[in-house]
Amino acid sequence: MSWVNDMMRSLKDKTAISDFIPVNEELKYITRRKRLVEELKGKGIQSSSVLEAIKQVPRQYFITDALIEFAYQDKAYPIGAGQTISQPYTVARQTELLDLKPGDKVLEIGTGSGYQSAVLVAAGANLFSIERQEDLHLITKRKLKELGYELKCFFGDGFEGLPNEAPFDKIIVTAGASEIPEKLLRQLKVGGYMVLPYGTGNKKRMYRIERLNQTEFERKDCGACAFVPMLRGTEKL
Ligand code: SAH
Repeated sequence: MSWVNDMMRSLKDKTAISDFIPVNEELKYITRRKRLVEELKGKGIQSSSVLEAIKQVPRQYFITDALIEFAYQDKAYPIGAGQTISQPYTVARQTELLDLKPGDKVLEIGTGSGYQSAVLVAAGANLFSIERQEDLHLITKRKLKELGYELKCFFGDGFEGLPNEAPFDKIIVTAGASEIPEKLLRQLKVGGYMVLPYGTGNKKRMYRIERLNQTEFERKDCGACAFVPMLRGTEKL
């Protein structure tokens, strides 16, 4: 019966090898994610739920293959179509400013690579995300589903928001606006926050706008930032 032993050994070896590589890859990324979390703490991110979400989300799947080795650098990178995957610090900062409560209904403008979306879902958001570029919308929607993130992705112009799903507890804009999207303000619950980069030209600042009541809003300046522009309309394939 030595052939049986040989076959068993060969099967065992095969399993061992195919298991070994992904496990090793994962360990490498887990270590890098932990290091990134420490770096973000050092840069002032304090929310434990945000840091935990960053620790969980595999950024290597949201970045172009050629840049995979840089997935855990605290930097923004191009993702094609003139767009970028946001810098982890910016993702963490915007998420922290939202002050998420578990199950908050959140609207995200600019799905892009899906990294910020994944972090929001991991931090407990019930997420609705809009992207204006159809190809990005389709690719990212599929990727997020494959990775097991539950959210609703829409193709459309974020300036319009999602009137049928409103009101939202929180709204996050991940592209730089040169005007305040008025329709989005109307889709915010009283007591809710909208976090957005806003300003004329290249000089954007991060703002958190709180809806105080039906007609009044309060704006807090949360510092300088850089973003790709928020554009009107949609781009089809
Ligand atoms: N959160 C993304 C950031 C992507 S960059 C990430 O982590 O990868 C900003 C994205 O906003 C781009 O994909 C861009 O196409 C999109 N965008 C710009 N203007 C928009 C609009 N009016 N509506 C919806 N998406 C918009």
